[in-house]
Order: sequence, then C-alpha cells, then structure tokens
Amino acid sequence: RPLRLPVSLASTRYDVVIGSDLISRAGALLAPVLPRKAAIIITDETVGALYLNRLEEALAQTGIATRSLIVPPGERSKNIDTYAGLVDSILKEGVERRTSIIALGGGVVGDLAGFVASTTLRGLPFVQIPTTLLSQVDSSVGGKTGINSRWGKNLIGAFHQPLCVLADVSALATLPRRELMAGYAEIVKAGLIGDPELFAWCEKNGAALLDQDPETLAEAVRQACAFKARVVAADEREEQKTDGRALLNLGHTFGHALEAELGYDGRLLHGEAVSIGLTLAFAVSVRLGACPQADLERVTRHLEGLNMPAHIRDLPYSFKVDDLMSHMLKDKKMQDGKLSFVLAHGIGQAFTTRDVPAQTVRDALVADG
Ligand code: NAD
Ligand code: ZN
Repeated sequence: RPLRLPVSLASTRYDVVIGSDLISRAGALLAPVLPRKAAIIITDETVGALYLNRLEEALAQTGIATRSLIVPPGERSKNIDTYAGLVDSILKEGVERRTSIIALGGGVVGDLAGFVASTTLRGLPFVQIPTTLLSQVDSSVGGKTGINSRWGKNLIGAFHQPLCVLADVSALATLPRRELMAGYAEIVKAGLIGDPELFAWCEKNGAALLDQDPETLAEAVRQACAFKARVVAADEREEQKTDGRALLNLGHTFGHALEAELGYDGRLLHGEAVSIGLTLAFAVSVRLGACPQADLERVTRHLEGLNMPAHIRDLPYSFKVDDLMSHMLKDKKMQDGKLSFVLAHGIGQAFTTRDVPAQTVRDALVADG
C-alpha cells in the first residue's frame, strides 16, 4: 500500500504518495485530485520510452483523456526554446483552464513542465511523477519551477505547487547507478542540514538503498520529502534571508562552482558535485572552529564507504582554485573579503553565515584538490 506524506503550506496542501507500481495505478490515484478528466503529459525521450505507455493506459482506465509531449533528455531541454515549443503545441491544440499538466521524468522535466504549467493561461493544475531519485527526494517537492537562461541556471521561473506528487520507487529500477548515487547525495544533505537521525539512518541503510531495495528506497524518499516539506512549509517562497529554504543549499555553493567549471556538460552530475560540496562545507566549518573534526570525518567516511565522490581529487578532472573561487564570487556578493555560506555546527546543525573569509574557502579547496 502506498504511503501518503501530507505537505501543508500557507498557500495549499497536497500529498506526496510514495510506493511501488504507482505509475500503473496513476488513474485511480489521480482521478480524485484532477479538476477535470484531461491532462497533458510532458516527458523526455528516455523516460517516455520506458513509462509513457504505462501512464497513458493507467489514466485511460479511469477515463482521463491525455495527450503527450516529448522533449530530448538532459539539462539542455531546460531552455527558452523548448519551453516556447511546449507552450505553442499546447495552445495550438487548444487547452481548457482546468486541464492538468503532468510531469513524467526527472528534475529537468519537472522544472520545465512545472514552468509551462505555471505560465500557460496564467497557471494550469500540475502533477509531478518524478522518476529519478533526485526528483523524488528533492525537486518535486517545494514548488520551484523554471528553466535556464544563457546567463545562468534556473534564472527564469516561478513558484507553482503541484496538486499531487506520485513517487514511484519501482521506476528507479531503470535508473543508472550513477544517477541513483547523485540523488542519494541530496538525501545525505537533508540529514546533514537538520535531521541527524536521517543521517544515522543513511549510515546504516545507504548500501541497501544503492542496491535498489524498494522498501529502503521508499523509506528514504519518505524521510527526505518529510524533511524538505518541513523546511518549505516554514519558508514557502524563500523570503527568509537566514535559515529557512536557504539551508537547502548546503554544499551547493561549492557544487555549483565545480559544475559551472565543467560547463554543465554532463561529465559531473549535480548530485556528484553536491557530494563533494558537502564535505567541503564541513571542512570549512571545521577550519573556522564551528564544527568538530569528528563530524567531518563521519561525513567523509560515509560517502567514501559508498564510493561516492567526497573530494575534488576523486574526480578525473583538474580544477584551478582561482577558477573555482571566481565562480563562487560571481554568485555571491563578497563584502570585505567575507562570503556568505551554509555551514554546519555538526551533523544535522546547518546554519547560514555571511562571515566566511575567502581565504579559508581557498585553503579548504587547496587541501581538497
Ligand atoms: P534529469 O531529469 O536530467 O534526469 C537524469 C537522466 O535520467 C535523464 O537522462 C533522464 O532521461 C534519465 N531518467 C529519468 N528517469 C529515469 C528512469 N526512471 N530510468 C532511466 N532513466 C531515467 O535530472 P535530475 O537529476 O532528475 O534533475 C536535475 C534537475 O533538477 C536540474 O535541472 C536541477 O536544476 C533540478 N532541480 C530542481 C529543484 C527544484 O526545487 N525545482 C531541486 C533540485 C534540482
Ligand atoms: Zn541540489
């Protein structure tokens, strides 16, 4: 039986339904929440080839009429042209205001389809069916949608909460192990930010999770979504300057610098960059005397034990510290040589600060490379 995790926000409430074989049961699960029995499915070619027929048939079983739009897989589809093409096909065929948009795929499809839903006719109802671990534990919950600009990632977007999220852990069976590990990094991140029990759970169950045990996957998705839902509920539209949703960026400043340096060309997955970013955030915290060395060691030991990238030197690419620093300075306003960062007092105790000396960050990068 699927598990239901309620997400209660100021603006709305919805369920994240977590379990096995949910795509085959999508008709019964979605019929009660869709405003009318019509939906437009947006997916990518890879996920479409694997799961689109199954979803269309499941929806047809409860009389939900669908049409489907398919984009190429990968981050490159999160652009203005693909977005414009989708909106154009929807409008060309005509669309009723209460027709839902269903995102079937990973975070790329979720962000793109969500942005289509948020803007077409000033907002169509939206459902997420995330099919990567990253999208099940992170991107499908919280309502951020958007696309990339040539000036940077996720610069065009909107908040648009879904009516419902169906996290079908059976769909993860076809996900490459590297993608699974990348999603796992975001679960570890949730534990490190504010849920020490989740991190301890990861230490015990991480190996079984990466071996695709369905019960373990479902439990991880439940815990990570519950954590994210709590953070989002407290700061739905990222208005708090400190703590709140900003904490979800633990490890991401470093991660984004590594990703940007490789030009987002797919050599390094976002979650792999985050995995390294998490140890770097703890390393900086230790250098500043904010966090015990033992906690940094626990984080590193966990990631290394699962063969996750934990240090810059684990990657088969070389980086110049100056280049990484300039990427970080670009998305941060540096004041008096100090940077703002998410750091940690220990496992499960992240905090935001605007007081990190650039030199300490540089030293941590040099030591990690
Ligand atoms: P993705 O959507 O590109 O999926 C990764 C790859 O796996 C793709 O090639 C996809 O076709 C394939 N795939 C998906 N499901 C599969 C399955 N079940 N079996 C086999 N292959 C499958 O990438 P992602 O890691 O899911 O998401 C990354 C995106 O999410 C980024 O664009 C990032 O900005 C965004 N994101 C958004 C939020 C948010 O709050 N909105 C949060 C985190 C990340
Ligand atoms: Zn992330």
